[in-house]
Amino acid sequence: MADRYLSFTATAPGRFLASRLGLPQPAALSRWTAERPHLDGHLLHLTAGGPSGLDLAPVLARTGLSTTTETTGAGPGTGTGTEAAGATAGTTRPAAVVLDATGVRDVDALAEVHAALHPVLRSVAASGRIVVLGAPLDARDHHQAAVQQALEGFVRSLGKEIGRGRTVNLVRLTDASAAESTLRFLLSPKSAYVSGQVIGVGAEAPDGPADPVRPLVGRTALVTGAARGIGAAVAETLARDGAHVVVLDVPQAAEDAHRVAARLGGSALTLDITAADAGERIAAGLPDGLDILIHNAGVTRDRRLVNMPAERWSSVLDVNLASVLRTTDALLAKGALRTGGRIVATASIAGLAGNAGQTNYGASKAGVAGLVRSLAPRALAEHGVTVNAVAPGFIETRMTAAVPLFIREAGRRMNSLAQGGLPVDVAETTAWLSHPASGAVNGQVVRVCGQSLLGA
Ligand code: NAD
Repeated sequence: MADRYLSFTATAPGRFLASRLGLPQPAALSRWTAERPHLDGHLLHLTAGGPSGLDLAPVLARTGLSTTTETTGAGPGTGTGTEAAGATAGTTRPAAVVLDATGVRDVDALAEVHAALHPVLRSVAASGRIVVLGAPLDARDHHQAAVQQALEGFVRSLGKEIGRGRTVNLVRLTDASAAESTLRFLLSPKSAYVSGQVIGVGAEAPDGPADPVRPLVGRTALVTGAARGIGAAVAETLARDGAHVVVLDVPQAAEDAHRVAARLGGSALTLDITAADAGERIAAGLPDGLDILIHNAGVTRDRRLVNMPAERWSSVLDVNLASVLRTTDALLAKGALRTGGRIVATASIAGLAGNAGQTNYGASKAGVAGLVRSLAPRALAEHGVTVNAVAPGFIETRMTAAVPLFIREAGRRMNSLAQGGLPVDVAETTAWLSHPASGAVNGQVVRVCGQSLLGA
């Protein structure tokens, strides 16, 4: 169901009324299109806490944005302004700001975060991006750990106040090139509904160069529950990026699964993912193996625990968690996932924040996060495969269209962007995690929730 309030507040009378009544004023988000693959404007590169040693310039140069560098971190006018790749870079509104705060080690240096961003915030364009770079917490230096942890509270607070469709995220890293795919994603229109996130990036060397336009060419991706909704959008986005997509869904959804597969030039596999032999049947259906495994199939059977029969509990746990564990184990044990492979599972903010009426669903989705965090280091070490999760918030699908009006409106507005996300927002996040150059992103649970106020 369309978000009529969003359309209404995009009109002059709607804006006036919302402002007079103090109602939320969601900004129309700019999302990726083939015609508009980059943000409109330049990138401002600031530093706080002194030079960090990260070799960011070549990485930022490949974001598609022209970069202006302010080396002192004290904001325009006092910086040295070393580079302005675009002729008008210094005069137009920045579409993105990258603040390298990896060198911040004490409270005095933390003040440079304020000094760097305070003067530029008003000028950041609508639907712009702020990415703060932090360092891993130093277990031997509690001053460094305190101020690096402080960056999380800073980023999450700024995300809640910045408005106009702008997003704020924190990336913890030690190596700029290992974080390139992450920075490209966060500094693009593809991350429109990802805000308030803290993403840890390891130091693994990125895989070989991938086709920048179709990075998944030659890769096979299996998406469960892809006959409709978020899964269909994920399949479409991975196919756009060049993957051969296998659309898996239950036999009852065979017609839709075949239709999606035909549209994307992929293939369909109809089976119930809860079948004990689902992993074996997937492996048999893909004798050459696969590169990308997306666990998206999921169900809800809501009822408060006091009224919940055991069957409602077990059916949700079986689809959302047990089958994810079973098929992952079976496919890894068979060596069906090729080296450089990617597993992306689907959690939910209900699993992070909890939700009345969803003890079964919340348990299953929290379980997915636990699976990811435990398996990720071993899967990488033993199979060369990364394991991450997306945790969607309120996404506009048939599932959420069926939610009663009042609860639906609350779900839509209770996030920093004051609107629901679209299936493509989850799909773009999944595509970033599936990217050949995302090998250093492992064990992460990334919320695609517009910085939902629930469980933030
Ligand atoms: P949806 O109900 O529209 O689609 C789910 C798909 O999974 C369907 O095609 C269904 O047939 C398939 N499926 C269900 N059980 C299956 C099984 N046993 N074997 C194979 N396929 C099966 O749901 P959606 O809204 O697109 O959600 C997709 C995922 O995102 C789910 O895991 C859901 O829990 C999660 N999620 C959604 C939202 C949201 O706002 N829509 C929020 C958080 C998380």
